[in-house]
Amino acid sequence: MAVAYEPMGVPALNLRAQYRTIRDEIEPVVREVLESQGFVMGPEVGSLEAEIAEYCGASHAIGCASGTDALLLPLMAIDLGAGDEVITSPYTFFATGGSIWRTGAKPVFVDIEPDTYNIDPAKIEAAITPATRAIIPVHLYGQTADMAPIREIAERHGLMVLEDAAQAIGAAYQGARAGTLGTASAFSFYPSKNLGGFGDGGMVTTDDPVLARRIARIRVHGMEPKYHHHEVGLNSRLDALQAAVLRVKLRHLDDWTAARRDVADRYRDLFASHGLDEMVQLPIERPGNFHVYNQFVVRVPGTIRDELRQHMMDRKIGTEIYYPIPLHLQPCFASLGYKYGDFPQSESAARETVALPIYPELSEAEQRFVVGSMNQFLHDRAYPSLFTDRAA
Ligand SMILES: *Cc1c(COP(=O)(O)O)cnc(C)c1O
Repeated sequence: MAVAYEPMGVPALNLRAQYRTIRDEIEPVVREVLESQGFVMGPEVGSLEAEIAEYCGASHAIGCASGTDALLLPLMAIDLGAGDEVITSPYTFFATGGSIWRTGAKPVFVDIEPDTYNIDPAKIEAAITPATRAIIPVHLYGQTADMAPIREIAERHGLMVLEDAAQAIGAAYQGARAGTLGTASAFSFYPSKNLGGFGDGGMVTTDDPVLARRIARIRVHGMEPKYHHHEVGLNSRLDALQAAVLRVKLRHLDDWTAARRDVADRYRDLFASHGLDEMVQLPIERPGNFHVYNQFVVRVPGTIRDELRQHMMDRKIGTEIYYPIPLHLQPCFASLGYKYGDFPQSESAARETVALPIYPELSEAEQRFVVGSMNQFLHDRAYPSLFTDRAA
C-alpha cells in the first residue's frame, strides 16, 4: 500500500546517518588510540597504508596530511619547479591546480569532455611543450578519466601521469582500480569523500619503489634517518586517529559504493518516469568504467540552474555546484593569461551543472522528493511550452 510521504528536506550530504551505522565499531578503536597516546603516524597508519595499497592493487601507499599534499608530494618527488609545466583540467577542485603552482611550475589547462566532465584526451597533445613534465587527469565525481589515450600520450612524451583520485577511491577503468592507472595517484580522506575521515587526511599510491621512498621522505621534512635532512620537505604526516577511523570505514567501502550506485540508478529511473531524462543531462558511465558516484551531477541547459537551486533550497533540498568558477578564471591564476572563452566546455559546465544529494543512506522517498521538486520547477517555471508541445 503506497503511503504519501514527503520528507522535511534532504541535505546534500548526511554524514550523521552513516556515523550512526558504525558508531559501535568506531568507538573502541578511537579509545585504543587514546589509551596508546600515540597520535602521529605509528602502527595504525602503517596498517592503513598496507590496506589501501591492497585495496587499490598498488605496490606502495604513503599516508599524508591531505589530498592536496597527496598531489603535491609526487610533484615534489620528481623535482618539479620553475620552468616546468603540468597539464590538467580547469574543471576541478582548486587543489589540483594549486599543487602544481606550489612547486613553482606552471599549470597548463586542457578542456573537458562535455559528458564525463573529465579532461579530453584528444586535446592534450596540442598543449604539450618541451617544458611539460606531467599530466594530472582528475577522476571527477567518481568516474576515471579516459586513461588509455592519456597513458599513451604520456609514454610517448616521457611524462609522469598523476591521477587525482580524490573523488574516486574504488573506481575502476577496464578492470583496474584508480590508484594503479598512472605513475602515482592522490587520494583524499576529507569527510565528504567516499572514504572520509574525521578530519583531513590523504594517501599517495604508486608501483614505483624509488618514487615511494622519496615521497615518504619528503613527507617528514626530507628526513632519513632521524635528524638527517637530505632535502627540504613538508610536515605532511597522517595521524593515528584518522587511520584508525579510516580502517574501520574501509571495511564498509564496497557496500557503500554499491549503495551509491543504487542511488544513481534510482535517480535515472525517477528522471525517466517524469519524462525529464531528455531535458536534464544525467551522468553517464562509460563502457569499461566503474563509477563510484562521489557526486551525482546533472545538467540543465541555458541559464536556469541558479533559479532551480533556489527552488530546491526553498524545499530544504541541499544542492552544490562543483565547480562554479573554472581554474583558468580564478583571480590567483590571472598571471597565466587565460581568459573567458578559452575552455568553453568547462565554462558551460560551470554554468549549467548542479550536484544532487547522494550518499549511501539516501532513501527512495527522499529521492522522489528531490526529482519531484525538480519536475515541478521545470514544468511550472522553466519549460512550460516544451511540456505542452510534448503533450500535443
Ligand atoms: C578533495 C579534492 C582534493 C583535495 O583533497 P583535500 O583532502 O581536501 O586536500 C583534490 N582534488 C579533488 C578533485 C578533490 O575533490
